[in-house]
Amino acid sequence: MPELPEVETIRRSILSNENAILVKIDIFHPGILRRQDFDPAELYGQPIRRIARRGKFLVFFMQEERHIIVHLGMSGRFYMIEKGQELSGKHIHAVLHLDNGRRLVYQDARRFGGLRFVIDIEDFFCRMGCEPLEDEFNADLLAKLVKDRKVAIKTLMLNQNLIAGIGNIYADEALFAAGILPQRPAGSLTTVEVERLTQAIKQVLNESIEQRGTTFRDFRDGYNKSGGFQHHLQVYGRINEPCRLCGRPLARERIGGRSSHYCRHCQS
Ligand SMILES: [Zn+2]
Repeated sequence: MPELPEVETIRRSILSNENAILVKIDIFHPGILRRQDFDPAELYGQPIRRIARRGKFLVFFMQEERHIIVHLGMSGRFYMIEKGQELSGKHIHAVLHLDNGRRLVYQDARRFGGLRFVIDIEDFFCRMGCEPLEDEFNADLLAKLVKDRKVAIKTLMLNQNLIAGIGNIYADEALFAAGILPQRPAGSLTTVEVERLTQAIKQVLNESIEQRGTTFRDFRDGYNKSGGFQHHLQVYGRINEPCRLCGRPLARERIGGRSSHYCRHCQS
């Protein structure tokens, strides 16, 4: 599933379309329309004022109280094609036509994601947790989030109402980088461990963005190209392979229903 670095990578690669005018939107599969507070045709002739990201959501700020929100679900792709370029591939469910000749394409084989046309964006995101790459996310804040919590730290990190944008890949990678076992009760982390984990989360997310995200099967950036961070993963998807620090085989275990990868020796 695309997580913060993948959605941020897409955002950056389509950013040159800010201020372009939206000409029209084709919806080929109505099932991907997750919410429609207004008629999308109201946006025709309007500029894209800003392309932003909140957690795992891509947000197009159009007019005040008129926003397009894209979520990629498990396998969605969102990319642009240049003027004259053929639209190709299966499972293309929506196309946004811009006055600069480009088209923004939403493609999703499994259709867990979709488009939302939202009026009140603050209300839409009101329960979403803090952005881990912003300054507001620091060791003091994480210490408050974990305090007295019995839930596994890995599970807490996936809670979008606490921290936005972290999924299975980056939770496992950040916990490895911080040397903390994923099944530890969140409230058992020491002050030093909370500081290490805060830095590890920021570091892992930033490194992945630099590598244009992680591609296992589906993820493509805004140019429909694969990411590169899969070559830098330390633990995720590497069950029984040697730990890059100690050489011992990595473990996998289900924690909070999610498959979790870690080193029994390097994490405690
Ligand atoms: Zn190890």
